[in-house]
Amino acid sequence: MKYASFTLVFLTLNYLMISCDSSNSEPVSNGANLSIIQVDEVAEDDYKIKYIFSEEFKEDDKEGLISWVDSVFSAAERTLGTYLFNIDVYFYYNDAQNRAVSFGSTKRGEVEKLNLYVNPSANLDELLDDWIAPHEISHLAIGAIGRDNKWFSEGFATFLSRQINMELGLITQAEFDSIYYHRIMDKKEAYINGETNFIEQSKLLFSNNKYGTVYYGSASYFYIIDKKLFEEKGIRFKDVLVEYQKCCRGNDKNLLETITAFDEIIGENWFTELMKVYRQEPASIVFDMIKEYK
Ligand SMILES: [Zn+2]
Repeated sequence: MKYASFTLVFLTLNYLMISCDSSNSEPVSNGANLSIIQVDEVAEDDYKIKYIFSEEFKEDDKEGLISWVDSVFSAAERTLGTYLFNIDVYFYYNDAQNRAVSFGSTKRGEVEKLNLYVNPSANLDELLDDWIAPHEISHLAIGAIGRDNKWFSEGFATFLSRQINMELGLITQAEFDSIYYHRIMDKKEAYINGETNFIEQSKLLFSNNKYGTVYYGSASYFYIIDKKLFEEKGIRFKDVLVEYQKCCRGNDKNLLETITAFDEIIGENWFTELMKVYRQEPASIVFDMIKEYK
């Protein structure tokens, strides 16, 4: 899907940064003057994505950044299904760090918001190489499921970000499998704490700021379900999401309703049963299951 034609609407507003859920770093500023570029998809008053830039961006920077997010978003929709809601994408200027995208977050509401802190001097390859935009766009494929289930939403977005990268031709399925197998297994020592279950241990790790450990550790839930779906039904987790976005996105109010919907789509209780392992069994069991799917 293309969002090519756009008209400029210059508005200035103060935007307050409220949530940040995808990076260890804090946002670089709490308020900024922003200009809006409205991207018309179907009709002017029926927008799908609106791009809003902080005022430091030059006009020349904006088109490249829009076409980058457009590419990632189109790949996300081809992978995870059509997003049937509007999204406001906020670009904040940050050239302080030596990376293309230094921070990202989503904020849920009547209009879903995606915040990206970007270095305008980064080229398209550098922007596409960064994990943050596909990670944040992945978050939006399900509704808000609550801070208490952050392990699930971060594992979800961490798993799906490189599924989008596969669609963009940046990595192969074999490379994906190898990256996630090793990164998940690398987290095993941090997770094995006596009889503590995976979810409790994730909360403990979050409280110790071990974000990367939980992000990849929790991707295990989706790695296991994806492998099981592929081996037993010849489909992938992303195929479940394509159906989910059509039937159920926006209806589910919590994690239980979300995984129940996933189960209904596949006609099995695999998501619920796997959740019981994460809730009730020692975390070591999860890593034993991952080993079975090497
Ligand atoms: Zn995240």
